[in-house]
Amino acid sequence: MTEIFIQPQENLRPDYHPNLTVVLLGTGSPRAFYGRAKPGVAVLAGHKAFLVDCGGAAVDQLVKAGIMPQRISDVLFTHHHYDHNGGFFDVFITSWRTHIAAERVFEGRSVPMHVYGPETTKAIIGRMRESFEFDVKLRISYNLSDEAGSRIEYTECNEGVVYDKDGIRITAFEVDHRPVYPAVAYKFEYNGKTAVISGDTIPVASMVKQAAGADLLVHEAYNKSWLDAQIAQNPQYEKALSNPAKYHTTTLEAAHIAQRAGVKHLVLTHHIPAPEANPAAEQAYVEGMSDIYAGPITVGRDLMAFELK
Ligand SMILES: [Zn+2]
Ligand SMILES: [Zn+2]
Repeated sequence: MTEIFIQPQENLRPDYHPNLTVVLLGTGSPRAFYGRAKPGVAVLAGHKAFLVDCGGAAVDQLVKAGIMPQRISDVLFTHHHYDHNGGFFDVFITSWRTHIAAERVFEGRSVPMHVYGPETTKAIIGRMRESFEFDVKLRISYNLSDEAGSRIEYTECNEGVVYDKDGIRITAFEVDHRPVYPAVAYKFEYNGKTAVISGDTIPVASMVKQAAGADLLVHEAYNKSWLDAQIAQNPQYEKALSNPAKYHTTTLEAAHIAQRAGVKHLVLTHHIPAPEANPAAEQAYVEGMSDIYAGPITVGRDLMAFELK
């Protein structure tokens, strides 16, 4: 059974998670949209808190979700569009600082940040890290932050198991978001449950294969008829507005994937054009999907959490 709840902002989540839990930090896209942060997902399992992508507001969204950033020492990138990596500077430095929240002290990260991603990750994030050097040096010499926390360890992998420890297994697999190549999705397995996070992609056979029987599939999607209507209303912006159709998945295609994979619950994210976060708008956004996929469909909202038990 999947339990959906929205974390009250003042409450911190526990440090230990007996059930695999997926928290949507941002359900937006490169487009600016009120109430929808850029993409990011926190995955909680056992004592670990993993961050899949970190869009611009990742730290703020983590705090709102009750997950102090000091808990993050593993960031997994699906690909390197800015809406998925633009918040890394903030996550990297904030997680390395000591904070107090709800009268508890959260000690700064004293281990290197472990960064996972497809090939290109070390070069791109490595250049970002170089740009932090001025601040990093001051934090070590003046603020006396632990030097180990200033380092990054990398695992570049397009296909295969990238993490396998304490009953938590994370598998990367290639998707198709060309011209962004490579791009990957992640499968998380813990305590008998499976969750797959698609990243950005057109429909791919690997998704159906890897998500087969999954308890939760968080898949990106855009609504084609809404997008077509927007383009028709703004023909002078046709070139810019039609981009999503080139390398993303439609809502109906996402339903087909969920149906073929036989997933137990489909959650949409990376909405284009984003619906208002209310039932009427969301109902219109998913129109036609339940004719294809009979299981539960949730239009993801920022800070929604799914505990798989
Ligand atoms: Zn994106
Ligand atoms: Zn992208």
